[in-house]
Amino acid sequence: MHDNKPFNQSRRRLAGSYAAVMGIILSLCGVTAYQMLAYAHWQAITQELKSVSGTLHDNLESKLMQPGQLSAAVEQALPGLCIIGKNCTNQPSDRHILGIVRQGDYYIRFLDQSGRVVAVLGQPPKGLPIYLQQEQQTLKTQTGTRYHQISLLLKATDRSPWGYMQIGRSLKEYDDHLALLKLLGLLGLPIAMLLVGAASWGLAGLAMQPIYQSYKQMQQFTADAAHELRTPVAAIRAIVEATRDSNPLTEQEAQATLAGIERQNTRLAHLIQDLLLLSRMEQNTLTTTQHPCCLNELVEDVVESLSVLEIAAHVKLLTQIQVFEPLYVMGDENQLCRLVSNLITNALQYTPANGKVTVILERADQYARISVQDTGIGIAPEEQSRIFERFYRVNSDRSRHTGGAGLGLAIARAIAQAHHGTLSVSSELDQGSLFTLALPLIFFSLETLKP
Ligand code: ADP
Repeated sequence: MHDNKPFNQSRRRLAGSYAAVMGIILSLCGVTAYQMLAYAHWQAITQELKSVSGTLHDNLESKLMQPGQLSAAVEQALPGLCIIGKNCTNQPSDRHILGIVRQGDYYIRFLDQSGRVVAVLGQPPKGLPIYLQQEQQTLKTQTGTRYHQISLLLKATDRSPWGYMQIGRSLKEYDDHLALLKLLGLLGLPIAMLLVGAASWGLAGLAMQPIYQSYKQMQQFTADAAHELRTPVAAIRAIVEATRDSNPLTEQEAQATLAGIERQNTRLAHLIQDLLLLSRMEQNTLTTTQHPCCLNELVEDVVESLSVLEIAAHVKLLTQIQVFEPLYVMGDENQLCRLVSNLITNALQYTPANGKVTVILERADQYARISVQDTGIGIAPEEQSRIFERFYRVNSDRSRHTGGAGLGLAIARAIAQAHHGTLSVSSELDQGSLFTLALPLIFFSLETLKP
């Protein structure tokens, strides 16, 4: 396929289309997976923050006495809480009501009603603006780090407004995670595309292979057909040229010329007929009349018509009808005659003088079996599957004298297949060959056969 330009072009186009479609699908899958991961992560962060803030809110509200003032109970509940204006270490401790708050990326701020920061727990980022309007905010510091924060209104025990509590966490881990995912996607996509491209090229090659094979076969067929047609045409030209040179032409020479031309013409006509038959069978455009055919009669008729060849080849042609009832198959009688006749003609041709060809008709379950057995030259095992190919001859030089073009068995198998049957061979060199044709039987009562 490498040397064939149109096929390579189609392969490239096919691979390109595969790769483009796969690229779009991969990109869509990548973007969707990214969005889903980001969403799931974000949900986890906000849920955690909500549950921490809710628990703290419920715990602390019962400990708040005066607005803007944090009681000792609150300080006890939140060890490490830094009250603004007091000397505090601001060291988070392990003993918080919620252990999560001690994690480095969490902070809590208490603000009075005017928005002044009263106390701080954890490490709130510097330069974080104070928003009290919304319950949830995503904020960005000057350094570019993002924070997600929840602001809650706190009430003192007498239900009067106390101030606000803000609990937030850094989104650095979340943003880093997403950035890494993006980077992986951006780096992974070209690598994935390279792999997809290579796979597409291979797949396109695989897809093109059968088309290329049949294209090659067609090319071979055309070349073989042209070669076979050229032989009789060249022979006719040679005869005509030889006749033109002999001047004056005797009556005998004229007759010989005409006989020669007729012979070559017949050969040409047969060849064209065979080619047409094969191509029509292949395209399923052959109009055949299928009706019940009695194989007992058919075999006897064909054997009888070939008895002339039997005499000429000095080969004994025997028939063994090993059934007591007539075997019927549905089919085209002319084609079936052609098939059996091809097998017997070959057997006679490839069996030396004093040999024997036996045609056997028998029944094998739901099939009728016609076997043509000879004691001829046989076929080597490696050739046995190839002899059914069009124009294939085991030894082209050897069988050329038989006048065959190598189409006989190809036609025979095509006819067998068109009749839902099979044609197979088993053979041994110098021992003989056995061609077996199996055709599905039809069964009907004798009444229906009466005119
Ligand atoms: P051809 O017209 O050359 O006989 P076929 O298609 O009928 O073409 O047969 C293909 C080849 O198979 C033949 O050239 C021959 O070599 C081989 N062949 C067919 N039948 C026999 C047989 N009965 N014994 C040995 N060789 C055979």
